Amino acid sequence: MAVTATAVEQKELLDVQNFDTKLMQLAHKRAGLPELKETQDLEIELGSIDMRLVAAKTEASDLSLVLRKAENDVEQVATRVTKNHVRLEDGSVTSAKELEALQHEVVSLKARQSELEEVELEVMERLEETKSVIELLLSEKSVTEEKLEQAITVRDALLAEIDDESEDLLAQRQAIAINLPTDLVALYEKVRADHGGVGAAHLHRGACQGCRIALDATELDRIRNLPSENVVRCEECRRILIRTVESGL
Ligand SMILES: [Zn+2]
Repeated sequence: MAVTATAVEQKELLDVQNFDTKLMQLAHKRAGLPELKETQDLEIELGSIDMRLVAAKTEASDLSLVLRKAENDVEQVATRVTKNHVRLEDGSVTSAKELEALQHEVVSLKARQSELEEVELEVMERLEETKSVIELLLSEKSVTEEKLEQAITVRDALLAEIDDESEDLLAQRQAIAINLPTDLVALYEKVRADHGGVGAAHLHRGACQGCRIALDATELDRIRNLPSENVVRCEECRRILIRTVESGL
């Protein structure tokens, strides 16, 4: 059975459509808020800082182990040098050949010691560099965290504002829609779902405001002669056409 509704109800359906359009625009605005992207970017940045921090901390811990080993190596050689010095001086070694061998060993041990000390120094420097990187990353992290916190505050305030406005519009929309014939609203919802959110369009000066196409004279004539309760559909886009005094009929 064809859907019918009084002229007033049809006019009110157009009001519902206007609210729905505003709600769609708000939803679009909400999804496209630059502040959403901004917080996402900051979260990504923070994630990247955290990853670099983990890497730097791992490197520092590895270098600490290497440094401990290098310190140990230096200490072992130094102990042997000291031991040999004592033996050279306490008169326990008397053989000239043995003394000479001992002196040679001291010389090569000292050379080894300075090599090892160089390694130790190099590792120490690398560890210091890594620690500075960690410091830098930590301060970068705290700056980014602060920025993110501020961005979230701004974002949430804007979202709440949009949500409040949407709720308000929705309440006004519902107050009208609830009094309209169920089959009219059902038809409207179906058409709306199929046509980009616009289910009802004003017939304004002979043109459908849904698809912006002007109706031909025959069609206008046909509509003109229909009872006002008939729910008219646009021949082009199938949207519900709402007739008013401005329809050009
Ligand atoms: Zn149309």
